[in-house]
Amino acid sequence: MRLSAYFLPTLKETPAEAQIVSHRLMLRAGMIRQSSAGIYSWLPLGLKVLKKIEQIVREEQNAIGCHEVLMPTIQPADLWRQSGRYDDYGPEMLRIKDRHDRDMLFGPTNEEQITEIFAGSVKSYKDLPQLLYHIQWKFRDEVRPRFGIMRGREFLMKDAYSFDLDKDGARRSYNKMFVSYLRTYARMGLKAIPMAADTGPIGGDMSHEFLILADTGESEVACHKDFLDKDWSVSDIDFDGDLGPVVDELTSRYAATDEKRDAGAEAALGDDLVTARGIEVGHIFYFGTKYSEKLGAVVTDKDGENVTVEMGSYGIGVSRLVGAIIEASHDDNGIIWPESVAPYKVGLINLKVDDDDCTAACDDLYAKLSQAGVEVLYDDRDARAGAKFADMDLIGLPWQLAIGPRGLKNGVVEMKSRKTGEREELPAEAVLAKLAG
Ligand code: ATP
Ligand code: MG
Repeated sequence: MRLSAYFLPTLKETPAEAQIVSHRLMLRAGMIRQSSAGIYSWLPLGLKVLKKIEQIVREEQNAIGCHEVLMPTIQPADLWRQSGRYDDYGPEMLRIKDRHDRDMLFGPTNEEQITEIFAGSVKSYKDLPQLLYHIQWKFRDEVRPRFGIMRGREFLMKDAYSFDLDKDGARRSYNKMFVSYLRTYARMGLKAIPMAADTGPIGGDMSHEFLILADTGESEVACHKDFLDKDWSVSDIDFDGDLGPVVDELTSRYAATDEKRDAGAEAALGDDLVTARGIEVGHIFYFGTKYSEKLGAVVTDKDGENVTVEMGSYGIGVSRLVGAIIEASHDDNGIIWPESVAPYKVGLINLKVDDDDCTAACDDLYAKLSQAGVEVLYDDRDARAGAKFADMDLIGLPWQLAIGPRGLKNGVVEMKSRKTGEREELPAEAVLAKLAG
């Protein structure tokens, strides 16, 4: 992409309304613009990151046999009256009337909708277990929308739902999702710690939140210090095998969100206890027959008896992750994208656009990299070199290439890693081999 023909409205000034670094950098890097409180437009650079995160989430859900669907944003109130949540939900729910004066709502979540779909389609134990998910915009009229897209009113969520014949099956689905979440976050370069979370009225220990530790996080959390340096990128997992022992091991140390903190357990930990703030990027939940009972999700078992299915739900804050990754990976000059979610892998800077040789060398490298399938943002604007370098650092692409008359005379391109700041001077062919390899 040629920057001269792109839409990248970066800001020089730090926006006064932004209280945390990810919000400031997203505005400055031209990723988002506010529409109204907690509601944002995604501009090209921001949308590209959002789509990459969404795709990683999608691939990891598909990998465990969770099937993608797409449910509507607008739901009928009657569905929520059946579960009893239409009255329970309170002012966070945006209630709407259609032209026929029917009560509708903008979905804050989809348990009712998915249970209705399941109940209308699945009648036999032979069709279980079933895992379904969608990635869809949600609306919650948050009391205090803040921190940009981190706590928005409109936000993108991946929500999955599991349907099983019994509690053991539900636990298997839960464990699959648990392990798949760790893989999902690891692919984004994140350390997300699974912590025991509140299960509300159902009780039991089947709820975990996944948290990224950051001073700007909204949750108070506590955990064993071993969890801080732990490598959470689980590999060599057989998702068809018994994941119970894997999950038991991963949860063997104390880790709890605010509501689940246990003074006794914490006293016993002594110096091994760490308290910190965290950003919740996912929440998984087993809730039994709470919705299946009300919405008639019943199947016949192998003896022909009716069984109400056991359910769980599994959320990932897709849009919140964009901010969370920036909170975890930035410096004074801007964002530092992990390669897996970077909007472009390479930023190519033409240091002297009015020099024909320089422009020809840039055009050539740009063409070759593009040909090799490398995503390049090519700064071909007529602007000062200093401003170009500053913009590249701000938007945080993993690799920066700079071509100017001086380097060209020596037959080299300057290549910089955004993460380490290391610079190398290499011939264009070597750059190509490195980046396209
Ligand atoms: P929170 O405690 O942060 O309000 P929640 O418990 O209401 O979260 P869930 O209903 O479990 O969240 O939603 C699943 C995921 O969606 C959360 O883990 C979070 O990452 C994301 N999420 C929830 N609310 C918002 C919001 N207002 N803006 C952006 N992302 C959100
Ligand atoms: Mg909430």
